[in-house]
Amino acid sequence: MPTDRSDKYESVEIVERNDFGPDLWSIRVSHGQPFDFRPGQYATLGVEVDGKPLERPYSIVSSPEEAELEFFVELIPDGALTPYLYPLQVGDRLLMRKRPKGLFLKTGLAPDRTHLFLATVTGIAPFASILRQLQRLQQRGEVVPPKIVLVQGASFSHEFGYAQEMAQLSGEFPDFEYVPTVSRPWGDSGWEGEIGRAEDVLRKHADRSGIRPGRGMVYLCGHPGMISTGRAVMLRAGLRDEDILEEQYWPEGKAPNSASE
Ligand SMILES: Cc1cc2nc3c(=O)[nH]c(=O)nc-3n(C[C@H](O)[C@H](O)[C@H](O)COP(=O)(O)OP(=O)(O)OC[C@H]3O[C@@H](n4cnc5c(N)ncnc54)[C@H](O)[C@@H]3O)c2cc1C
Repeated sequence: MPTDRSDKYESVEIVERNDFGPDLWSIRVSHGQPFDFRPGQYATLGVEVDGKPLERPYSIVSSPEEAELEFFVELIPDGALTPYLYPLQVGDRLLMRKRPKGLFLKTGLAPDRTHLFLATVTGIAPFASILRQLQRLQQRGEVVPPKIVLVQGASFSHEFGYAQEMAQLSGEFPDFEYVPTVSRPWGDSGWEGEIGRAEDVLRKHADRSGIRPGRGMVYLCGHPGMISTGRAVMLRAGLRDEDILEEQYWPEGKAPNSASE
């Protein structure tokens, strides 16, 4: 860090990187200072450009009990920050604000309800964090996870970076189902799973899993179009506003061509 920004930022080191496709990757960063967060919160990551921090929010994938922080990032070729983040490899460093932020998933998951998570690509991050935390709590016998269905939409199946982990959780949790769905199956030979955008298959999976007013919660994360349509679908199904929580990754109407459908 050429300028001393140590009051607000920590310089964190990338200790692991996994690439899932040409524009989608995850990183794990090690941090020297405590970073207490709840699943659903985000960290603010950045790099210094022209002597100033250029930063954006990124939902945390890891559970609060992991020593490192994990992030799942999509490259936006015309974006301001991600073209700087994309070349960074193990050993490189990033700026990270010292405090996490965000209120998504703040209240935790009520044990007596069914929870339907809906994500577009990197929008799986907060859900992965809460599932990893539940996995640890369950392993220690501290909770029985409630019924959860996770629907993740993407254009192509290579974008399901956490599919293997989610499949493993399906075998460990008493009632957890992972439903990846692709919107461009014609470009995905061999795909035999669900087809359609996440919001298009939402009602089917909500009905099937027993999401009803007062008995179910729906959580929407990622693409603003998915969120507005998904919310409208669930309001039409009778859910109340307070039964639908959302984390929108960018303002509606601003998606560039590379936005996943
Ligand atoms: C609370 C929160 C959590 C977030 N968590 C993540 C995360 O876990 N992983 C992640 O990759 N991004 C996440 N984002 C989005 C992230 O903060 C950046 O907006 C994104 O990385 C693009 O940054 P950029 O500077 O390269 O592009 P910008 O210059 O900021 O944006 C360029 C254009 O791309 C749009 N855009 C932003 N993100 C996407 C996207 N994923 N797909 C299509 N269009 C997009 C913007 O609205 C804008 O029109 C999150 C955003 C918020 C608000």
